[in-house]
Amino acid sequence: MSDLKPSSRRKATKATAPAKKPARQPKPVDKATVLEIFRRFEAANPHPEGELEYVNPYTLLVAVLLSAQSTDVGVNKATRQLFPIADTPQKMLALGEESVRERIRTLNYFNTKAKNVIAMSRRLVEDFGGAVPRTMEELTSLPGVGQKTASVVMNIAFHIPHIAVDTHIFRVANRIPLVNTKTPLETQEPLEKLVPGEFKLHAHHWLILHGRYVCKARTPECARCLINDLCRYPAKTI
Ligand code: SF4
Repeated sequence: MSDLKPSSRRKATKATAPAKKPARQPKPVDKATVLEIFRRFEAANPHPEGELEYVNPYTLLVAVLLSAQSTDVGVNKATRQLFPIADTPQKMLALGEESVRERIRTLNYFNTKAKNVIAMSRRLVEDFGGAVPRTMEELTSLPGVGQKTASVVMNIAFHIPHIAVDTHIFRVANRIPLVNTKTPLETQEPLEKLVPGEFKLHAHHWLILHGRYVCKARTPECARCLINDLCRYPAKTI
């Protein structure tokens, strides 16, 4: 779940619409229901974790950058070849673009991603003393890093609550619905306003995991959904 250059970003946006959008979307659920939804997510999984492997904020940033249009499983396979020898921007620069490319060639857009990893590492060394910055403005100034990647890094590495909206979160949020939005990009702000403060840090993981394993794109598994009675999705499977 990362941000690619404009040419590839177009493709990423195209694939994000909910699979079976009903003709008329119901109104978003009320505040009490939102609270109950996140209470249940928390009770079921108090300490949710993402599935990308990393060892420090820098490797998390690289992993998220590599995850655009690729699965976490695929990214983890590639980074297991990369991070043991390059877990800092200095080591990544020493490794060089060609070697990075070779280690990530199983991933979509590996050419662009290798270029971005090197350019981003260079900026970190030259302008940030090799450390990953903590603000949205600084993070999004790095090559290949957009709002979504920055939000994930801030949330996971620095525990600054943000809800980076990927295709899963967009689908789940519009099915329940927590929001009525047309694109992932326009979903983050209303979602961050809506989710109660105490749940904001983990909301990103709860919604992604729910979308990935239960509220699946083609056929949501509503029979085993812990918020089934609260969800207003007209095409529920039970
Ligand atoms: S009831 Fe079905 S559609 Fe609603 S959130 Fe659960 S899995 Fe998704």
